[in-house]
Amino acid sequence: MVASLPNKIGSFYPPKRILMGPGPSNIHPRTLTALSQPVIGYFDAAFVRMMDELKSLLRYAFQTQNALTFPVSGPGSVGMESGFVNLVAPGDKVIVCRNGVFGGRMIENVERCRGIPVVVEDAWGEPCDPNKLEDALKQNPDVRLVAFVHAETSTGCETDAKAITDVAHRYGAIVLVDAVTSLGGIPVMTDECGIDAIYSASQKCLSCVPGLSPVSFSDRVVEHIQNRKDKVQSWFMDINLILNYWGNTVRTYHHTAPINSLFALHESLLLLQEEGIENAWARHRQHYQALAAGFEALGLRFLVKEANRLPQMSAILVPEGIDEALVRQELVAEYGLEIGAGLGPLAGKVWRFGLMGYTAQESHVMTCLRALDTILSRMGHPVRSGEAESAAHRAYAAWHTARAEKTA
Ligand SMILES: *Cc1c(COP(=O)(O)O)cnc(C)c1O
Repeated sequence: MVASLPNKIGSFYPPKRILMGPGPSNIHPRTLTALSQPVIGYFDAAFVRMMDELKSLLRYAFQTQNALTFPVSGPGSVGMESGFVNLVAPGDKVIVCRNGVFGGRMIENVERCRGIPVVVEDAWGEPCDPNKLEDALKQNPDVRLVAFVHAETSTGCETDAKAITDVAHRYGAIVLVDAVTSLGGIPVMTDECGIDAIYSASQKCLSCVPGLSPVSFSDRVVEHIQNRKDKVQSWFMDINLILNYWGNTVRTYHHTAPINSLFALHESLLLLQEEGIENAWARHRQHYQALAAGFEALGLRFLVKEANRLPQMSAILVPEGIDEALVRQELVAEYGLEIGAGLGPLAGKVWRFGLMGYTAQESHVMTCLRALDTILSRMGHPVRSGEAESAAHRAYAAWHTARAEKTA
């Protein structure tokens, strides 16, 4: 007897959404078109040419010359794990700077690699403090690796990557940087900062399909991994083996590359290159400023102080007496607009508004403010109707004026 399904199942067509959460972000139509092209083999000469272009485009995104720059097959979490399994041998002491959820995951990774984590704590919503790191390095001169999150998605806070990297290098440690939310949204200056190893993800400011994790390792780090006495504990993530597929010389089978997703990544990186990476950073800031002006008009406050805020991710404090989850539900039900909830100690206390990649556009900012205006006033939050959108309009106008003056 063949088992049958209890219900009739039809094709799945997802609803239309404005994705203003912590990722995934909305995807450009060109990227979706690239994704839907017929699959080809992973040794096809055309595919191999595309792989080489992908590596160049990723070097541009990361602002690096590192030869080993490629997309790991797997989400950002696999990029993170690739960094740790390749760089941490059992017994290694590793400093993790933690100021949010993703720093916590780094600690977990160190432990699972049988490393010894030394944690430098900062408050959620504050950047990682280079002075605290320096104290920890003085107390632990045997530390060889420092890891931190450049853009903490759980709080919307940026850490000064150059300052942290400089301190680590002064004490002879290399750095591993989480640039999952920063890449494409704010400057990620891998070579200028001297970052040794870095990873990101496809679905945040690169606006590609989820499931790919661009990484970049310096030659020095690659050499270090190649000289490891022990075997990297993960077969799949061992850079020594992956180099045979993604490296420059040989191409031997390692695993079946996620071919269509890589078509999509190629197109989304091409879009970034066409726009110009500096223009992409400026666009994220422009729409953030309009959104922030609207939040202010609505009487909403940020978790993070202005100097440390990420334009692509804003954590907003839920006002007294407002049902945090209900607001999110109504945003989806009535406006098809998704935002993020707070994580860990911030659960129930903040909303997270993302403006990542293709999502960062004026129509989304205006829809979001109009929706909040309606929903919050209905819930009894004091709102002067229309003020948020006006404030955003004024911010856009100021932006265009400043731009015109600059180019005049
Ligand atoms: C989203 C995110 C990750 C994890 O990426 P996935 O693609 O969800 O696995 C890691 N670090 C940061 C900072 C993130 O925002």
